[in-house]
Amino acid sequence: MKQSIERIIRNTIDQSNLTTTYRTPLLGVASASDPRFAQLKEIVDPAHLLPTDLLPEARSVVAFFLPFSRALGEINRCHPYVAREWAVAYVETNQLIRDICANVKGHLEVGGIRTAYEQPTHNFDVEKLVSFWSHKHVAWICGLGQFGLHHMLITRRGCLGRLGSLVLDATIEEPDAPAPEFCLIRQGKSCRHCVRSCPTGALTVSGLDRQRCYERLLEVNDHYGAIGLCDVCGKCATGPCAVMD
Ligand code: SF4
Ligand code: SF4
Repeated sequence: MKQSIERIIRNTIDQSNLTTTYRTPLLGVASASDPRFAQLKEIVDPAHLLPTDLLPEARSVVAFFLPFSRALGEINRCHPYVAREWAVAYVETNQLIRDICANVKGHLEVGGIRTAYEQPTHNFDVEKLVSFWSHKHVAWICGLGQFGLHHMLITRRGCLGRLGSLVLDATIEEPDAPAPEFCLIRQGKSCRHCVRSCPTGALTVSGLDRQRCYERLLEVNDHYGAIGLCDVCGKCATGPCAVMD
């Protein structure tokens, strides 16, 4: 079934006719009963949902990563503000994730498997700025990556891209093992490129000031408002962990 979901993801990308280009996607699987889902109520927020909140008969969770091209990361890194191409990629990829989830759901339903999923973004508490269903934490449980100093998930293809996830009422393959550490700081090496790249000071070695970061994202959204909802920045995702393959 994993191969079939991977094929749907590839086909949906190929048929979407987007300006954004992607490297080869990644897919990871976890059991819906993995105890780390319950731990997200402590790690993320007490209101964080369980797989069974999305689908009462949940048995598996799949997460996927859509890695952007290296060129897109370079365009955003070199741009004095936030590159328009980066904002477009955010808007296009959010719709792509919705389309992928709808296509996987439709395909699996033919075989009698039910699925449920949350929206790719804006499923968060606007006061606390924490998600009810954090795709990056779900992807972490599905073995897709580990968190870097910049609080993003770094996969074996890097952190430059976007994540989606679905809950299924079927057992698919064996759960994926945890990913190794990719962040240079977490490996005991030197880096901090992400902290140095943050234009607002929201990201420091001590943590992320979510409110300060979100103010910047809203400013970018105002700047590129004609594109669609694009509260993005991503300057912290342009370092050595951006693309790792
Ligand atoms: S830029 Fe460097 S310190 Fe920051 S998350 Fe990536 S590897 Fe870690
Ligand atoms: S998204 Fe931008 S403002 Fe927010 S932490 Fe990263 S670099 Fe800083």
